[in-house]
Parts: sequence; C-alpha cells; structure tokens
Amino acid sequence: MLPRETVPAARFVILHNKGPQGLMRASDVFGSRGNIVLAPANGRVLFNGCPDNELLPGCQIRGFLTRPDGSEIGFVLAHLVPGTFVGPGQTFRKGQTIGKMALWEQRPFSTHVHWAFNRPGEGMPPPANMSVLAAFNTLGPPPPRTLHKKAVPHFAAEESVQLAEEDRLVVRESEHAEVPALEEE
Ligand SMILES: [Zn+2]
Repeated sequence: MLPRETVPAARFVILHNKGPQGLMRASDVFGSRGNIVLAPANGRVLFNGCPDNELLPGCQIRGFLTRPDGSEIGFVLAHLVPGTFVGPGQTFRKGQTIGKMALWEQRPFSTHVHWAFNRPGEGMPPPANMSVLAAFNTLGPPPPRTLHKKAVPHFAAEESVQLAEEDRLVVRESEHAEVPALEEE
C-alpha cells in the first residue's frame, strides 16, 4: 500500500527526510482539517504527545504496526486533532480510524499528517531509519474503503490512481526534516 491510502480524502503526498542511500524516511499526506486517518495495519500505541505549536501542529502518537509476517515496525504519526486518536496502551485494527488531521493554523495549505518508521527490532522513530515507501510496501493491501465512502463523498477511483502515481513522482522537501521526540516522553 501507499502512504496516501491512510487518508481517503488526501490531496497529495510529499516524501522527505532523505536517508544515507537517498531513500526518503518520512511521508507527509496532505489534506484538510478533520480528515480521517486509517490504520495501515493492526497495531498498538505506546506514547503520545501534543506540542501543538507553530512548528508542530496537533498531537503525535508512537507505537508499533504488525506486518503480515508477524514482525513489528515502530511508527510515528503526527499532527492529529487532540482527543481523536488511539491513546497509549490501546490497540487498533487495520482500517480503523486512528485519528483526525489537525489544521496547521499558521500554514493552512500545508495541513498534513506525518508518517515515519523504524526497522523491526529497532524501536520507534524519531529518528526514523527506514524508507517510508518500503515500510508501507510491507504492510499488505490497503484497508478497504467501503466503510469510509460516506465520510469522503467526493472520492473517485480515478483520482486514487492519479494520486498513487503522484506518490511516486513527488519527492521534494517538506517543512520539517524530522518530527522530534517530545520531552514529556
Ligand atoms: Zn513530515
């Protein structure tokens, strides 16, 4: 699956945080305030934090996703609306809504959620140490959309194909290289 498939109403995706081999280690999925974010796999949340400042809007959650082979990869998902996300100690299922996108008040047209991952056995980002597209590629097929059509009435299949192509083509700098670890953790 692709990063944009976690946000049914996504507008576009930017990969960023270039690693040693030139692979991008983070993905920003752009959308609008309140867009739902779907779990790309079964998983669990261990930490959350809510900096909610001009550089880091909203809240972030960190935990592990379970891949089809049973291994776990650490993740961070950032820029969620307070009170909408799965909290520490909770588990979730693939396709479940795990949070809603927070408005970036200072940069409303850059409203997005940030995904990044670590290799199995290497804890949670930040810092992220795995290609974000490689990580998504190991999570199996995207979650089914049928449950969410109502939430995204304008969604069209052709648009999905086009945006998936943009996922591969659009690789440029984002506003942040890395979402930093939070002090309260
Ligand atoms: Zn980002």
